[in-house]
Amino acid sequence: MTALARLRFPDEASRGRRYPEIAHPYRTPFQRDRDRIVHARAFRRLEDKTQVFPSGLSDHFRNRLTHTIEVAQIARTAAQAMGLNQDLTEALALVHDFGHPPFAHAGEEELDRLMRRHGGRFDHNLHALRIVERLEQRYALFPGLNLTFEVREGMVKHSRDFERGEFPELDEFLPGERPPLEAQLIDLADEIAYNTADLDDAVAAGMIEAEEAAAAVPKFGELWEAQRTSYPGAPEKVQFLETLRGVIDWLVTGLIEGTWRAAEAAGVESVEAVRRHGERLARLSPAAAETGGQLKALLHARVYGAEPLKRERQRSQELIAAMFGRFLEEPGLMPEPYASEARAGEAHRTVCDYIAGMTDGFLLRTARQIQLLG
Ligand code: MG
Repeated sequence: MTALARLRFPDEASRGRRYPEIAHPYRTPFQRDRDRIVHARAFRRLEDKTQVFPSGLSDHFRNRLTHTIEVAQIARTAAQAMGLNQDLTEALALVHDFGHPPFAHAGEEELDRLMRRHGGRFDHNLHALRIVERLEQRYALFPGLNLTFEVREGMVKHSRDFERGEFPELDEFLPGERPPLEAQLIDLADEIAYNTADLDDAVAAGMIEAEEAAAAVPKFGELWEAQRTSYPGAPEKVQFLETLRGVIDWLVTGLIEGTWRAAEAAGVESVEAVRRHGERLARLSPAAAETGGQLKALLHARVYGAEPLKRERQRSQELIAAMFGRFLEEPGLMPEPYASEARAGEAHRTVCDYIAGMTDGFLLRTARQIQLLG
């Protein structure tokens, strides 16, 4: 089913890079973006950033790197099935979590709270743009990764579109327009990946039983029953994983079908029409969306607010707040160029950049060094 090939973003339609470069002899612009993303320091740091479950409790929980690879798998599958541009989709999936600070959403909330005290704010999508435009330093001719316009646009429109003037610093990224379908897919692939992976990790952590998931998520229950009937002798863990595999397939198929139907109903015939359409066209079929919503509700009720994760969140937020305050008082505790930059300009912005770039492990080591932790 490559039925949406007419809406594929063509490589040659790219608005190009901020600093023009000579074309590569055999890689397309989006393949080059993907490769730059994989070679970036921010990509390797994903390995030691918490997704949901803190590392150290198990060697099998997702971290932000393995989550990213799962999102890329799902997004690439959907893009390929619909006839969209797989290279653009893959680059966007691999970069989608670059801006996450240490300690997952707890870290993001805390940095935002601290920045608001100084009249600023912290948003992980905007931070990701700062990383790829400025903070990565590895090329002689330009700062950042010099990614194509479409990848940077997709990053800032990861989970929402915006109007002109809403974020003046983003006005170059076609405000008021939807991003191409390749970019619209990423947020949904992200949700499919984390809803199913978080259930897997929560069951492994003993926080949810498979029976409970079967009761709360009818599609899961239906596939679970089918597994138990077909393979009654299989270990329960295998039955669970086979069921989850079926749920992922159901959701991804729902994404492909839902997007195809929405594009048909809207009558869009070109990438430009996708851009001008009043709403995003990438979506799950209603039945798959219902399953996604049930999974999310179960995870919110039983996992994200659970006591051990709550304690961990509070601990990491206190630590980030203490570190932020300490660096503001004494910028010299940060390495160069952060120390000089903090003394010369908006110190809170520099401190925020420095902390947001840290892995969980580096933040803990730094906290020990500056005696915030024993
Ligand atoms: Mg993600």
